[in-house]
Amino acid sequence: MSSPAPDPTLFDKVVNLTKRRGFVFPSSEIYGGFRSTYDYGPIGVLLLRNVKDAWWRSMVQLRHDVLGLDAAILSPPAVWEASGHLANFTDPLVDCKHCNERFRLDKLDDPHTCPNCGEHDSFTEARNFNLMFKTHAGPVEGSGHDVFLRPETAQGMFTNFSNVLQTSRKKPPFGIAQVGKSFRNEITPGNFVFRTREFEQMEMEFFVPPAEAGEWYEYWKNERFQWYLDLGMPAESLRLREHEADELSHYSSGTADVEFLFPWGWDELEGIANRGDYDLNAHATASGEKLDYFDPQTNERYTPHVIEPAAGATRTMMAFLMAAYDEEEVRGETRTVLHLHPRLAPYKVAVLPLSKKPELTGPAQELLATLQPHFMCDYDETQNIGKRYRRQDELGTPLCITFDFESVDDHAVTVRDRDTMEQDRVPLDQIVDHVRTKLGL
Ligand code: ATP
Repeated sequence: MSSPAPDPTLFDKVVNLTKRRGFVFPSSEIYGGFRSTYDYGPIGVLLLRNVKDAWWRSMVQLRHDVLGLDAAILSPPAVWEASGHLANFTDPLVDCKHCNERFRLDKLDDPHTCPNCGEHDSFTEARNFNLMFKTHAGPVEGSGHDVFLRPETAQGMFTNFSNVLQTSRKKPPFGIAQVGKSFRNEITPGNFVFRTREFEQMEMEFFVPPAEAGEWYEYWKNERFQWYLDLGMPAESLRLREHEADELSHYSSGTADVEFLFPWGWDELEGIANRGDYDLNAHATASGEKLDYFDPQTNERYTPHVIEPAAGATRTMMAFLMAAYDEEEVRGETRTVLHLHPRLAPYKVAVLPLSKKPELTGPAQELLATLQPHFMCDYDETQNIGKRYRRQDELGTPLCITFDFESVDDHAVTVRDRDTMEQDRVPLDQIVDHVRTKLGL
């Protein structure tokens, strides 16, 4: 794993690798790019999907108390009026009167000095800039047709609270989880996919009896922190930072951020918040619908309190790449390798026939077909074997399987381990079990 001290050169190295190997491309590149918008290429789409799947597996599949949801991206102003986003989802925007650059006042190290031109006290008064993207539905423009692109996935879980409760037979404590795109008209997008205007979130709202909120808040902080460690993030690059009282939103009685040591310092991957009954009450008042729970055992009706772990999928993917990136000296040469956890690795296995001769490529493709139902595989018959290993190391592929001339006779193949570079000879009829055991999934 890479060093725990922030390495300022790491940023460029990782960004270059992601472009070179097909993880992430600047969006609309042939038209000169579209600022801070990115497309996920053939390898990046696999990695991003694996991050989201690992979250879903831990939050939904391996539990009995969390249910999934996929709510709409477009919604009417009423939702955002009730949630408080129309009034409050703003960042303080300042312009430098000297160089005309725009900044988010709360993100400036020195609120009196322009980081672009160095001018002192050149900022305009801060204006509250609403981050929501607004558009209109249907062919007519006008206030009755306004719609918003969601700036977070969370509200879909609150507005569907009753639907889920009535159809699922769950009772608090239970959660609703969602993964999907969110949109924010960020004043200063940047740092590659760290802050973009279109991004993906992984959020869960956990509804609990009010008296249990404190203990569930502690539970989810630990649970979420452990998720990153279990997927191979080094403990030194990760911390849980409890918000100070003046950082908390008025309805929150506790918020903690999971932070990662990025090349520019500690920054947020996920926030875990104890939100009280704010959201359900706000939507109940605005919609006139009951958003509460009647406990038939105690005959009590109450509005559940909510613990919300809210993570960024795209931002977290970038952190996993940064944590996994390594350069090692091997026999006088530098090898670049991504030590990604096997669950996150885009390809689990690469099948590499030693030569392009049909007597090898034919059986190698049969081997590929044997592995594909079980694992995401790559297949590569170009260039020499050393270059192909280097490529797979840069993609973070945990295992390479070489089909050589001996394989034709002895029905065995060489399995190379990405991290140790050790090679095992494995009979073809045991290969699926061998790969499964090696990956440990
Ligand atoms: P910030 O203070 O960095 O703007 P936030 O505290 O407003 O972020 P939340 O609303 O808590 O962020 O969103 C939860 C998670 O969604 C964040 O921890 C982050 O991982 C992700 N996220 C938020 N905004 C963006 C963005 N513009 N680009 C990428 N990911 C984002």
